[in-house]
Amino acid sequence: MKISDTEQETNAGDKLHWTTEAESALKKVPFFVRKKAKNRIEKYVLDKLKIRRSSIGSEVVDGAVVTIEDVKAAKEKFLSNMSKDIRGFQADRCFGASGCPNVANSSGSFLEKAENLLEQENILFFLKQHVKGDLKYHHEFRLSCADCPNCCSQPQIKDFGVIGAVLPAIADEPCSQCQACVNACPDHCITMSDNSISTDSRCKIPTIDFSSCLMCGKCIEACPTGTICEGKRGFRVQLAGHLGRHPRLALEIDGLLSESEATDALRNVIQFYKKNSREGERFAKIFNEPDMLEIIRKKSIN
Ligand code: SF4
Ligand code: SF4
Ligand code: SF4
Repeated sequence: MKISDTEQETNAGDKLHWTTEAESALKKVPFFVRKKAKNRIEKYVLDKLKIRRSSIGSEVVDGAVVTIEDVKAAKEKFLSNMSKDIRGFQADRCFGASGCPNVANSSGSFLEKAENLLEQENILFFLKQHVKGDLKYHHEFRLSCADCPNCCSQPQIKDFGVIGAVLPAIADEPCSQCQACVNACPDHCITMSDNSISTDSRCKIPTIDFSSCLMCGKCIEACPTGTICEGKRGFRVQLAGHLGRHPRLALEIDGLLSESEATDALRNVIQFYKKNSREGERFAKIFNEPDMLEIIRKKSIN
């Protein structure tokens, strides 16, 4: 089994002694970045001692003690290198492309266009001009794509998020009443109701509650007759989510956008952001008007 660099670092790190003071300092690091911080500090110590991580065996490394001075020095090093790594935006995607069975609509092509757009718009240059002091990761514009409504990549807490989706429709194909669609829907949106053109009580047809439907496409996959079929494929687009001191989930643009409409929405968002972010505040921080959702939607699909 191939061990990733991160795992190697972690395994190496378990072989180092930490002083009580250094350990206390590490405990003050927020839990969700603590492991990364620990790896960085241990890498700093090993580099200082000129010990290659790959040469470490199962024994505790002699003389490799992590002290509070190491913690401080590693932090300084990290902060001084940070601005070199910043590219102005972060863009990521869920693991849909690695064979996940839940993919409703692949966001790969959209992500490529979005990254090109963010590069062309030179967000990094914009941030360098507007942010007072050093650029930090938290200044970067964040975009995330998920290939289905499970949202493993957390688009709901990013400046711009897309969720791959497929809207079901009812076709003319006769329904076998198998109930597979009812059972497949994770959100209980499908019921079997009387068919108005038949008096036979056994002859029911599926009804979809579109107000609750998250467009995952599971019912389409489950239907053996094609009675429930694909209506439209596209992306749900979410804006202005963020964590931090005043967290907020993103607001969703109405409707299902095509890839080009979602790209237009991103372009509109970037224009808004560049015009209104006077000191490099995150888009999510300056976008507070739900009315803006409608404006961006209209611009994006007209
Ligand atoms: S968001 Fe959906 S498609 Fe992507 S990895 Fe998660 S479950 Fe799979
Ligand atoms: S698309 Fe998903 S959420 Fe919508 S009705 Fe079908 S199974 Fe239910
Ligand atoms: S719509 Fe399809 S899955 Fe649903 S009950 Fe009819 S045949 Fe079965």
